[in-house]
Amino acid sequence: MKVKVVTRILEANDRIAEENRKRFDEAGVYVVNLMGAPGAGKTSLLERTIRELKPHLKLGVIEGDIVGSDDAERISALDVPVVQINTGGACHLDANMINEVLDEMPLKDLDLLIIENVGNLVCPAEFKVGEDVKMMVLSVAEGHDKPLKYPLMFRESSALVLNKIDLLPYMNTDINKMRNDALALNPKLKIFEISCTTGAGLDQWAQWLSGLRS
Ligand code: MG
Ligand code: ZN
Repeated sequence: MKVKVVTRILEANDRIAEENRKRFDEAGVYVVNLMGAPGAGKTSLLERTIRELKPHLKLGVIEGDIVGSDDAERISALDVPVVQINTGGACHLDANMINEVLDEMPLKDLDLLIIENVGNLVCPAEFKVGEDVKMMVLSVAEGHDKPLKYPLMFRESSALVLNKIDLLPYMNTDINKMRNDALALNPKLKIFEISCTTGAGLDQWAQWLSGLRS
């Protein structure tokens, strides 16, 4: 019985995700669903990405958090349209939450909309929100066992951003194992090694991201 209920929830979600997708396509905006654990550096990556891409692309951001507007304030400081969703406890964004805020986003004026999901390595990967692609941020500080422990997000993502590589000298993390295990789960995964602190790798990442729309 429980399995049936979960299936029905996901089917209802997928229908709304399709509606969102139609609106994004009509507006001509490319949409990224950015996922990762709390503290992986999702918002820091967004800040860096906005600085790289803002001269070339019109960007918008939807922030998902359980409470608070800290992340939206950080994005707003970069003069980019942003909407904060507070899930009030839910540990992921779903298609309906996105649908409800679309009128607050100037979709027709945007080239790229990035949705920062709630920090969580598990269920954000299960819920489509109408995105073109899912991507994830994983910091090397989280440890090299994460791909094999949380396989779904790695399978669902088109790109994996390995963040905080400046910390590698202080960690026991085997970044090659991280890469190899992630690629074993998803051979098409595009992997970037970056540091939002030093700026390493960010130009390649931003260049690749901006090329996705065409
Ligand atoms: Mg954040
Ligand atoms: Zn959840």
